[in-house]
Amino acid sequence: MSVEQISLSGRKKVVSNKEMTWLEKIYLWTIIKGLFTTLKHLFRRKVTIKFPEQVREFSPVYRGQHMLMRDEEGRERCTACGLCALSCPAEAITMKAAERKPEEKHLYREEKYAEIYEINMLRCIFCGLCEEACPKQAIYLTKSRKFANADYDREDFIFGKDKLVMPLEMAKMNTQSNTLN
Ligand code: SF4
Ligand code: SF4
Repeated sequence: MSVEQISLSGRKKVVSNKEMTWLEKIYLWTIIKGLFTTLKHLFRRKVTIKFPEQVREFSPVYRGQHMLMRDEEGRERCTACGLCALSCPAEAITMKAAERKPEEKHLYREEKYAEIYEINMLRCIFCGLCEEACPKQAIYLTKSRKFANADYDREDFIFGKDKLVMPLEMAKMNTQSNTLN
């Protein structure tokens, strides 16, 4: 078999160099064919949706953006043990531990806390292994439909505590609803 005959996909077409007819030269038939294709799609079921006005149903096992949780007193749960970073297959998590000062007891639940906690959203594959590895139930992948926004700088995809820690208001609301129930 010659090289010209080899076709991996089996869809190889030999291009013809024959002279175009007068009808082919005015492209009328080609334009009509193109318009017919457009017309055909007008009556087919649409595969696209008008996002963000319309939102698709998400899978029950969907995992969205991470959140570093607070306890019922609003203190950060994370103790900077590093197990989430160790279990992360994408090596997306980095942190720096610090020791809690006596006057910081209302801020951090454990004696050691994450002074810096960062997730590189360009690396993360939202597998949820960090959540499973955490012994303090401190990291959680929310059902939020918000991912990292598009940006120009890679640094902007490194989410720090300012973006990851649960807002204090949310922690208070959770505590209130738990008390009521
Ligand atoms: S979800 Fe998976 S990839 Fe993303 S930070 Fe957690 S362990 Fe790493
Ligand atoms: S989020 Fe959990 S596993 Fe990760 S460092 Fe904090 S306490 Fe440890």
